[in-house]
Amino acid sequence: MHILGMFPEEIKSWLERRTAPFRAGQIFSWLHRHAVGSFAEMTNLPKDTIAELERAFGSPWPLKPVTVRTSADGTEKYLFALEDQATVETVLIPEEKRHTLCISTQVGCAMNCSFCATGQSGFVRNLSAAEITAQVLWVQNRLKARQQSISNLVYMGMGEPLANYEAVLRSVRLLNHEQGVNLGARRITISTCGLAPQIRELAEEDLQVNLAVSLHAVTDAERSQVMPVNRRFPLAELFAACHYYTERTGRRISYEYALISGFNDSAEQARSLGRLLKGRLCHVNLIPINPAAGQKRPAERRVMEFARILAAEHIPVSIRKERGSDIDAACGQLRQRQLQE
Ligand code: SF4
Repeated sequence: MHILGMFPEEIKSWLERRTAPFRAGQIFSWLHRHAVGSFAEMTNLPKDTIAELERAFGSPWPLKPVTVRTSADGTEKYLFALEDQATVETVLIPEEKRHTLCISTQVGCAMNCSFCATGQSGFVRNLSAAEITAQVLWVQNRLKARQQSISNLVYMGMGEPLANYEAVLRSVRLLNHEQGVNLGARRITISTCGLAPQIRELAEEDLQVNLAVSLHAVTDAERSQVMPVNRRFPLAELFAACHYYTERTGRRISYEYALISGFNDSAEQARSLGRLLKGRLCHVNLIPINPAAGQKRPAERRVMEFARILAAEHIPVSIRKERGSDIDAACGQLRQRQLQE
């Protein structure tokens, strides 16, 4: 395992016979709290320990940036190469009061959602906890120079996070660790396309993370058309798992609904969505689809009308603002472009 994926106790075991065990806490703090870009920056470590770390792991991050793009609206998109040269995308969304980072959990994705560039490119492999965490620390290191830091984290980049459950949960706990980044669990959102068994499993964890469920349609027939996962876990099974999650955790679920013109954006579908969610602890995030995904985006008045109908049903609703459209910021676009080149 790369040292970035280890907790202090695990670093302590790795250090056994190499150096004093108390160095484990120092190393963890350098890696996570200070987000150093090289082992040589760990100035309170003996030189031979630094040399050992360099020999064993090369760099504190098991990835390197290949492309960095900045949008006119400030959104930054990074394409990282992992040690096996596979690539993943990460997006930073700076706002006045917060910096949200959207990270990847898999190379490609097996879920095959029809509107998603990542889904179309197929599944390659899971990321390790170190590779997931490294995306955060690399960007944190970059922000340090601007005296800024990541305030919110969303597991919504390439891949289905709950299909890489162990590594995702380990990375959440590493990033939540008080000797490290210490990012509050309530500032972390894990998204899923609807893996019902893992939603139930997540409910059992002692974590205060937010859960976002991609819904995108109100009937099984429509949802199966764009999200093949619905054939494994149809709406009734998905909602039973979501109900279990809110009962168990007391936390509301954010339902993501990508609006596709002529497919799921009618007033009748808005009313059906309202009926499906009535009485549930939830919030709906409407996402006018990125036309680059091959589908047509609804007109703005249609989006507003959809939101109005939900609000009239007392469903909390927001409309996601498009960011970074000039830099291929939709999930998987930049990687797909690089693969084509
Ligand atoms: S939308 Fe998410 S779950 Fe669906 S294919 Fe894309 S990355 Fe995978």
